[in-house]
Amino acid sequence: MDLAARITQVKPSPTLSLDAKTKALQADGVDVVNFGAGEPDFSTPDYIKQAGIRAIEDNFTRYTPVGGIPELKKAIVDKFKRDNELDYSPDQIAVSCGGKHTLYNLAQVLFQAGDQVVVPAPYWVSYPPIITLAGAEPVIVATSETNDFKMTADELRAAVTPRTRAMILNSPSNPTGATYTRAELEALAEVVLERNLLVISDDIYEKILFDGLSFRNMANLGPELKERTVIAHGLAKTYAMTGWRIGFMAGGKEIAGAVTKLQSQSTSNPCSIAQKAGVAALNGPDDSVAVMCAAFDERRLFLIEALNRIEGVKCFRATGAFYVFPNFSAHFGKRFGDLVIDGSDRMADYLLEEARVSVVPGQAFGEDACLRLSYAISLDDIKKGLDRIEEALSRLS
Ligand code: GLU
Repeated sequence: MDLAARITQVKPSPTLSLDAKTKALQADGVDVVNFGAGEPDFSTPDYIKQAGIRAIEDNFTRYTPVGGIPELKKAIVDKFKRDNELDYSPDQIAVSCGGKHTLYNLAQVLFQAGDQVVVPAPYWVSYPPIITLAGAEPVIVATSETNDFKMTADELRAAVTPRTRAMILNSPSNPTGATYTRAELEALAEVVLERNLLVISDDIYEKILFDGLSFRNMANLGPELKERTVIAHGLAKTYAMTGWRIGFMAGGKEIAGAVTKLQSQSTSNPCSIAQKAGVAALNGPDDSVAVMCAAFDERRLFLIEALNRIEGVKCFRATGAFYVFPNFSAHFGKRFGDLVIDGSDRMADYLLEEARVSVVPGQAFGEDACLRLSYAISLDDIKKGLDRIEEALSRLS
């Protein structure tokens, strides 16, 4: 079957493929410790679920406005004002079917053949394919582990060409858990203004932040930067709502209008029931977020310390999201029987096959030296998984 070139040039999402493989093993009764899944292990808070149930009971089950119901847009506008001191009007917002869909739509309405989009590596797995699917070219910028894998202004400047249209920034970051400081954002902002770039700010991990850090993005750096920034966001990570699929963007009216037009010809509105649940999530108290973050924090601190105690493993202090990105490259080149562990893919396969531990190879994020471990699993599982990893590494020679 001849499929269109656009789809043959991208691969399936490696995070979702690994998650499916791990869950299939678990369903077969195999005891796998799952550091792979990038989703909170908490249930959606009750008051949010009740709003969804109410929506069904009230027959709120028909088409809604394509870009989101007014009530949800207002809750999003209020969120940006309350949490981020950013003013948007409802026509600067578009609600989509999850954060990934929001990013996909933005790429479709903003980028085209000939455009380059800067993506700092390590990057979330879906950024390059989403840019490619829009006909544009992702320009991967390598960053340094000694700078916690954060892109510097010089690295950005060196990557920009007359064709560069935008850059993507994700802080706190998936997969590294690193967070940009205000000073680091300001340094990047100088290049953004100098070279007239757009910034896609993926703020999905905004509320999962540790060490007393407070969140800020490019749009917070003044009106000129706000004008050049489009925020991509969603409810999945903050409210443990991965399956509900509610994402949203905030930015220029023209962009929000274009996203809405695209949706009118593709998905139509995001799920009506999930939108009502979204209103409850955004307008409700953030107590459940605090409880979830406290648990994540305890796991984070344990994990970073324990990983650094394993011989040949190095892990910098992640300050946000629920991932750590330890460097395992000291073990590359070692053997297990005939198998040579020649990089992160082989290491991840080996750990799954021999240790029954699921991790995502760093290669999927553009950094082969590392593995991504999500700590959206219990502390007991984290301890069990780390023992297994240590034991498996000791079997390599
Ligand atoms: N964002 C999560 C992850 O990185 C969910 C899976 C995905 O959509 O990539 O694991």
